[in-house]
Amino acid sequence: MSYAALAALVLAVALCGGIFARRARLLVRLVLQGKPAPRFDDVPARVRNEAVIALGQRKLLQRLVPGLTHAFIFWGFIALLPTIAMAMIAIVDRTATLPWLGHQPWFALLVDVFAVLVLTGVITTFSIRMILRPKRFEGSHLAEAALILALIAGVVATLLPWHASKIALSLNEWPAAWSPVSNALSHWFDGDAGTAAAERVLVWAHVLIILSFLAYVPYTKHLHVFTAVVNVFFGRTKARGRLEPLRFDEEGPEEDMRLGSGTVADLTWKQIIDTYSCTECGRCQDVCPAHATGKDLSPKLLIMALRDQLFAEGPGLLDGADSAEAPSPLVPGAVSDDVVWDCVTCGACVHECPVSIEHIDHIVDLRRHLVMVESRFPAEADPMLRDVERASNPSGNAQSDRAAWAEGLDVRVLEPGDSAPEVLYWVGCAASFDPRARQTAVSTAKLLKAAGVDFAILGPRECCTGDPARRMGNEYVFQELAEQNVETLNAVAPTTIITSCPHCFNTLSSEYPDFGGNYNVKHHSEFLSELVRDGRLNPTASDTPITYHDSCYLARHNDVLEAPRELVAAVGKPVEMQRMGKRTFCCGAGGAHMWLEERGSPINEDRVREAAETGAETLAVACPFCTVMLDDGIRTSGVDLRVTDIATLLADAIAAPADSD
Ligand code: SF4
Ligand code: SF4
Repeated sequence: MSYAALAALVLAVALCGGIFARRARLLVRLVLQGKPAPRFDDVPARVRNEAVIALGQRKLLQRLVPGLTHAFIFWGFIALLPTIAMAMIAIVDRTATLPWLGHQPWFALLVDVFAVLVLTGVITTFSIRMILRPKRFEGSHLAEAALILALIAGVVATLLPWHASKIALSLNEWPAAWSPVSNALSHWFDGDAGTAAAERVLVWAHVLIILSFLAYVPYTKHLHVFTAVVNVFFGRTKARGRLEPLRFDEEGPEEDMRLGSGTVADLTWKQIIDTYSCTECGRCQDVCPAHATGKDLSPKLLIMALRDQLFAEGPGLLDGADSAEAPSPLVPGAVSDDVVWDCVTCGACVHECPVSIEHIDHIVDLRRHLVMVESRFPAEADPMLRDVERASNPSGNAQSDRAAWAEGLDVRVLEPGDSAPEVLYWVGCAASFDPRARQTAVSTAKLLKAAGVDFAILGPRECCTGDPARRMGNEYVFQELAEQNVETLNAVAPTTIITSCPHCFNTLSSEYPDFGGNYNVKHHSEFLSELVRDGRLNPTASDTPITYHDSCYLARHNDVLEAPRELVAAVGKPVEMQRMGKRTFCCGAGGAHMWLEERGSPINEDRVREAAETGAETLAVACPFCTVMLDDGIRTSGVDLRVTDIATLLADAIAAPADSD
């Protein structure tokens, strides 16, 4: 045992550990001062996410080559952890190792295998980032990433020859044959005094590189190495389309109240860990419809900008009253107003992000502050916000006209005190008032009647769910409408609610439980496909090629994928677009964009061109907003397609459905 080596090691560990601890203390203190976020429930699901997303690398493996290379590095990092302790022990006493584990042949094999895999992963990752340079890395810190990859390569590039030198010196505690790579490399060494010196140099180099990594990484943009697994644990476990409600009551500590995010002081602790965890991989940017169509928004750059501002102003924030400067606005400090309003809340970024960063929560919180505190939002949205508040629908129509679409269809309109029907059809504002979307309501009503379903509508008592106001950032108005609708619905106490609008579906099923409304909500595609399956509706399929456009709020936010496809298959010949299912591409209407002017290239035109490439004659949709947006896209792009809601396609495919009324 070498006391000099022990002293040197203690000094190195203390120095690097101290640098690490100093940074870790700041990072932890920033998280602890974050605003509350309820993420301690549903522990079994969190553990499952940790196993599947973090350990299993599921999201990363959606892209095979970069996913595998990252998985090699990540799994190798875990598998090789004990070798750090072994190397430190060997520095002090070259004949000692970890009890038991250090002698295991299988562990020696594991070390060799993973060292090679890590090296392969590092070289491939380096080649992808530095040579191929896919667009998703635009704006990422590539030089810093290269240095970190070099450090990781250094760890394994010293580990293998160190083991080789031990074998050459017969210091290996394991059978040499079980470490084939190190054994092969041992032939570089001849076992003399030079090998003994090399063994010391290699083990020290190995440990010093690891300690440098420990000290350096938390100060870089790559601190995700330490925080990503934590962020995955606290990621959403259910209701991905749900927004966290703001608290307007007087209950609870005043300092916990917030009106969205105005400065870094308003970020929740989860949002702070989000910013720490971004790997700058650009997967979110790659799938963002706003970014793809040339808008300013990049979800990656947004998270990076929030992190930069947090790091710039965080220390002052912790100093509190002693700080010379108050935190500055996030908009336009970190990001511009345009970036905030470009988002269609499609959730593609959240779905792709391998470390469970929740971009929509950040963006909606920025909007909440702009709208509710600063009254700053695109002027064209003003009529919608006023109409939702004043007329209970975003188009400003008279509520008394809500059931006008049903004239002549003999649809029961529920009056207060009426008994609940088997099914309550929640029509939604678009299908109630928009001339193009109304056909969906008409077809749905005809189909329900054809199948003999006992259903009714609320008529003038149905108000906007509040979704467009909420996605615009006006949480006050949303909560008022939510409370009003929940009161109406709880009085009716329906067994089942069906709705043809994915936005209503999301709000009724995922957001109203926060306001005391717990209902069995089905999208009309789910209910109608059940009726077809049960033989209560019998469509005749044609040879017409139909491509189905997944609505973001149905497929990605709420996992409704199969039911609409069953209906398409029941009425025609399905052909899929490349971006489908949970990886669908937005129509451009989400996040209240139905009422905002779009800058740059239109998202809806991009989507209808993709639909036309399938050779389909019909573009099937299951959302009134998609109906309007994609129909507009067809008109402006000149694509030869017909947009039709699946309810209308089904109604057309049923022999004389109107006759059965
Ligand atoms: S939600 Fe959609 S539009 Fe918004 S940042 Fe994410 S990918 Fe882009
Ligand atoms: S937010 Fe997620 S997907 Fe986007 S760059 Fe960061 S880690 Fe990658």
